[in-house]
Amino acid sequence: MRYVSTRGQAPVLNFEQAMLSGLARDGGLYLPETIPAFAGLEQLDGLSYEEVAFRVVRPFTGDSFSDDELRGAIDRAYARISHDARAPLVQLAPGHHLLELFHGPTLAFKDFAMQLIAQLFQIALARSGQRITIVGATSGDTGSAAIEAFRGIDNVDVFIMYPHGRVSEVQRRQMTTPPAANVHALAVTGHFDDCQARLKDLFNDHAFRDGVGLAGVNSINWARVVAQIVYYFTATASLGMRPTDFCVPTGNFGDIFAGSIARQMGLPIRRLIVATNQNDILHRALSSGEYRMGAVEPSISPSMDIQVSSNFERALYLAYGQDAGAIRQLMEELKQGGFAISQGALEALREQYASGRVSEEETLDTIRAMRERTGEILCPHSAVGVAVAERHLEPGVPMVTLATAHPAKFPDAVERAIGVRPGLPPHMADLFDLPERLTRVENDVDALKSLILERRTA
Ligand SMILES: *Cc1c(COP(=O)(O)O)cnc(C)c1O
Repeated sequence: MRYVSTRGQAPVLNFEQAMLSGLARDGGLYLPETIPAFAGLEQLDGLSYEEVAFRVVRPFTGDSFSDDELRGAIDRAYARISHDARAPLVQLAPGHHLLELFHGPTLAFKDFAMQLIAQLFQIALARSGQRITIVGATSGDTGSAAIEAFRGIDNVDVFIMYPHGRVSEVQRRQMTTPPAANVHALAVTGHFDDCQARLKDLFNDHAFRDGVGLAGVNSINWARVVAQIVYYFTATASLGMRPTDFCVPTGNFGDIFAGSIARQMGLPIRRLIVATNQNDILHRALSSGEYRMGAVEPSISPSMDIQVSSNFERALYLAYGQDAGAIRQLMEELKQGGFAISQGALEALREQYASGRVSEEETLDTIRAMRERTGEILCPHSAVGVAVAERHLEPGVPMVTLATAHPAKFPDAVERAIGVRPGLPPHMADLFDLPERLTRVENDVDALKSLILERRTA
């Protein structure tokens, strides 16, 4: 399988190379040249999550990994998810189901992709003897998932930038308490978008990039998207493989874009519904055709507090008929604040995506109402998803809302809604007693470069 950049000016790579590099050298994102059709949809019901993962991921990895290597990586990755179903589906109301993606070690869906790619990185690096430096930007959950997945893995250093003071205490502690010498939590002055912009600066400095063997595991990494395709298949199989709507709490557009790939592989997904909080650039773009940045407004669902949604570039590339020149043009305009999506591309997007925006009050009301009506305690991100899904329910079409994090990861918002602080699962009970380790750093690319050079364990 060959991977090409959305901006058309980076080398064509195989799966392993695309996974190890993250962002393409021309600033674009890698995508397979063609999306493989999935054979055997009717044979998935009742299989283990691991077996479905093998069948779904296999067509994308090409000859980068043997079948045994891939199976081994999948088994080790998902053994760390503390639920036999891995991604259980629970019913909220007639026709409305919640896909619980929070039973992993850091209690958010990010574990599904990060655990798998850490195993795949380990195999690839052991084979080549190469050493790499992973740098990531996080609004909270990616960073904790990356540090947890890569701690202690040979030949890798992991530096995670997070916006200082803007992640929850549980998120911060999950990043700052692992004692492994190869993981480093960096508290950057600024917002998540600043962290993401500095990450792009580091990748666009080719001398630095080659010097430290820079690799990225942000949601732009294609291998993460691939891992996230799997649960769309297991959920649809559990519902009898009939046309199904999915509602996805969305920030960087990685999770929902995985659903779009599943749909293109032939999974009977009818609509993918983008659920946003008050940081609603995607909802505005799909409603009006204007993709325009605003200022970030911090919310109670901080993992969705973004104004630029990186993976949306992939959806645009497909909606523009894989016209890399058009994408380069749009991304130039974005530097000036935004762009208008062409009529044809907008129609292509609206054919598969719907959207909705949820206020802070509605988010709290949804947490309260679901607790009363079903007993389920939602995290604020999942509540944004459930609120939008309820507006889009249609008789006869099952709706699956992705529950992206465990409520205990965001206890302040949950307590505001229901007056009860959700407890951490037993395996994390000591999180608040462990010593923390972090470095404060300015929103400045040169400061970051010196810090990385100084702290690498290579
Ligand atoms: C990352 C995250 C999201 C947003 O996912 P994207 O793939 O960035 O759209 C939503 N909810 C939670 C809890 C997250 O950690």
